[in-house]
Amino acid sequence: MTSTHGDHDRPLRVKTRLALLGRGEPRPGQPLNVPIIAASNFHASTGPELGRGYARNDATPGWEAFEALIGDLEGGAAVALASGIGAIAAVLDLLPAGGRVLVPEDSYTGMRALVTDGAAAGGRWKVTTVDMTRDDALFPAIADADLVWLESPSNPMMHLVDIAAVTAAAADAGALVAVDSTFATPLLQSPLELGADLVVHSATKFIGGHSDLLLGVVACATDELHAAVRRRREVAGATPGALECFLALRGARTLALRLAQAQATATALATRLEAHPVVQAVHYPGLRSHPRYALGTTQMRGPGAVLSFEVADAPTADALCEELRVVTNATSLGGVETTIERRAKLPGQQHVPAGLLRLAVGCEHLEDLWDDLDRTLHEVTAAARAIAG
Ligand SMILES: *Cc1c(COP(=O)(O)O)cnc(C)c1O
Repeated sequence: MTSTHGDHDRPLRVKTRLALLGRGEPRPGQPLNVPIIAASNFHASTGPELGRGYARNDATPGWEAFEALIGDLEGGAAVALASGIGAIAAVLDLLPAGGRVLVPEDSYTGMRALVTDGAAAGGRWKVTTVDMTRDDALFPAIADADLVWLESPSNPMMHLVDIAAVTAAAADAGALVAVDSTFATPLLQSPLELGADLVVHSATKFIGGHSDLLLGVVACATDELHAAVRRRREVAGATPGALECFLALRGARTLALRLAQAQATATALATRLEAHPVVQAVHYPGLRSHPRYALGTTQMRGPGAVLSFEVADAPTADALCEELRVVTNATSLGGVETTIERRAKLPGQQHVPAGLLRLAVGCEHLEDLWDDLDRTLHEVTAAARAIAG
């Protein structure tokens, strides 16, 4: 199935593609969904065509169905991998030996762990870390890079990077650009259209959408890159599971609905939190106070459903996480349940304020979330004052 339909070849809209793509042949009696095919091995082909053989090398129909949908949405051929980090590792493996990767100071903690381990282990990569909100640090550093890694919006500070400006500079420097677009999902920004070479998602998050699987995916701008990433899956073995691909594809069917709801709620919560007496700062691309608000309105089709906000200190933030009753005190994001986490407690997050909380908004009712946040914010600050007094 292609993205166009009917006499006029008008491209189908995203919601329609989410419903229709990644299915089997529409033949009578065949299931609408590609079933979970629990197979590592396939009968050898006897004809001249080399058929499907061993799953790690040749994929399975379930992986391909998921890849067909994500590849279509991103505008480049996709490769599913066992996790978001598996996808990131496959991209880093494209670096030449001793190659230099430029990474944002504010980025997913697992990504930071992966690059620093790789740099330590006999200098497999060289790593340059920059604060990507500072153009005077970012653009000069691109000249020395083989791979520029972007995360926009970033986790957890919600920084935005001008993807088109970076890809233009990287093209001049002969560097590849990869974008971790997990927070935006394929629906809210299209990095390949902005000149990026690779887009990575943790499908564990919004794409899967139900906190019940681990999966990653890479979408590639060229056939050459697609073949190279597939080759990394084959030789390094970060193969996705059949069940995971099935669940992620099923989750993706409702991505537009879940994300629209969660984003509207996140926008309302960000606005109310910004006006709350005990909240010191809110970081959300949908707020006019965001330093790159204007960029967000052109580069993205919406600000997304993740925000972060700051309270006085770590004890206040920790108490808030423990006392909330509707918001779930847990890591990760992108499920139908709203989660909250104090990110500075994790290693490698020295740049994150101690009292910063990441709020990943789900699909609960806005007023239930707000009642919970508002009341608990007042309670924990009153308790802290009582102790101090
Ligand atoms: C969770 C996450 C990852 C890692 O994905 P896993 O599926 O947990 O391996 C990478 N990038 C971002 C932005 C994430 O939030």
